[in-house]
Amino acid sequence: MARNPLLEFTDTGIYCAEGKFYIDPWKPVDDAVITHAHSDHARWGSKRYLAHKLSEQVLLYRLGDIQLQTVEYGEKIMKNGVEITLFPAGHVIGSAQIRVCYKDEVWVVSGDYKVEDDGISTPFEPVRCHHFISECTFGMPVYKWKPQAQIFDDMNSWWCNNIKEGRASVVVGYSLGKAQRILQNLDLSIGKVYTHGVIENTNEALRRNGIQLNPTHRITIDTPKEEVRKGIIIAPPSSVGSPWMRRFQPYDFGYCSGWMSIRGAKKRRAADRGFVLSDHADWDGLISAIDATGCEKVYLTHGYTASFSRYLSEIGFDAHEVYTLYGNDESEEDTAPVAATQADDPVTNDHNSLSFGEGRGEAGTL
Ligand SMILES: [Zn+2]
Ligand SMILES: [Zn+2]
Repeated sequence: MARNPLLEFTDTGIYCAEGKFYIDPWKPVDDAVITHAHSDHARWGSKRYLAHKLSEQVLLYRLGDIQLQTVEYGEKIMKNGVEITLFPAGHVIGSAQIRVCYKDEVWVVSGDYKVEDDGISTPFEPVRCHHFISECTFGMPVYKWKPQAQIFDDMNSWWCNNIKEGRASVVVGYSLGKAQRILQNLDLSIGKVYTHGVIENTNEALRRNGIQLNPTHRITIDTPKEEVRKGIIIAPPSSVGSPWMRRFQPYDFGYCSGWMSIRGAKKRRAADRGFVLSDHADWDGLISAIDATGCEKVYLTHGYTASFSRYLSEIGFDAHEVYTLYGNDESEEDTAPVAATQADDPVTNDHNSLSFGEGRGEAGTL
């Protein structure tokens, strides 16, 4: 007798009926298994959460006092007879692919992922499965990332040049992932790293989790402008054009996003310098990752789902576009400027609104 698929796409999220749990649900549920702490994947209101150990402090910081169980990569957990194992997704610190196994049927939910080793997140590991649920944020051939060493060489020389010309350097990237990647790859012999409160709160959560990050200096009202000008500021997208940022004038602002490789929305166009740096897989990365799973079926959850699933079908995959509410953590997600006074508000993060994948032709926010 045919039974339901092990994982189903419901209006609450990706559901395992046999194990009675959801993966990255967008409505409150009893049991939520979380791929990573970005707010479109880790939402408030569920009774119990399961996530990777290195996501613990960021999840508690973002979601408050939740009931959270954490596991290591490769550690097996049983829920109602269904086996759950987390594998590294290489997206941000603590990000995981969720492997679900029941009666020899294996599904993997990728969450968000990238295949390049960023030197700070545990590197992506391909996992063999029958069914692979993948994102495809950058699922167009135009997206092809340069090795990160090259991007950071550019960033370091941009920084040196700004110091020479007496301008502050403000580099913008979202607070979980990009900010730490920037911090760990800058050449700190050039100067000190200053941080916006939203970034520093996330850094502190990660440090509480035992992650060794390079030294940072939280910007307060008393931080001397002249000192900051000799260093570099890491700020979230929400600070672009805000009074908080304007007080560092004259400054040069660099925006870090995969979207910098194409003509972008207003905020990115306003940047003095674009760095094409993404925490998602590019076109080749997506295809190689999907291929490495050896899967029979692939489901595309967010990004260019329509065109990418069409392409995968053409090259021989059994590919399907599915509807989810996962957003895009590199989009123009936070249009309202955040004043410095809001910097300590845990709900104000740079990943907190949703957009449908551009593959649907609806890039608007909800
Ligand atoms: Zn993400
Ligand atoms: Zn996502």
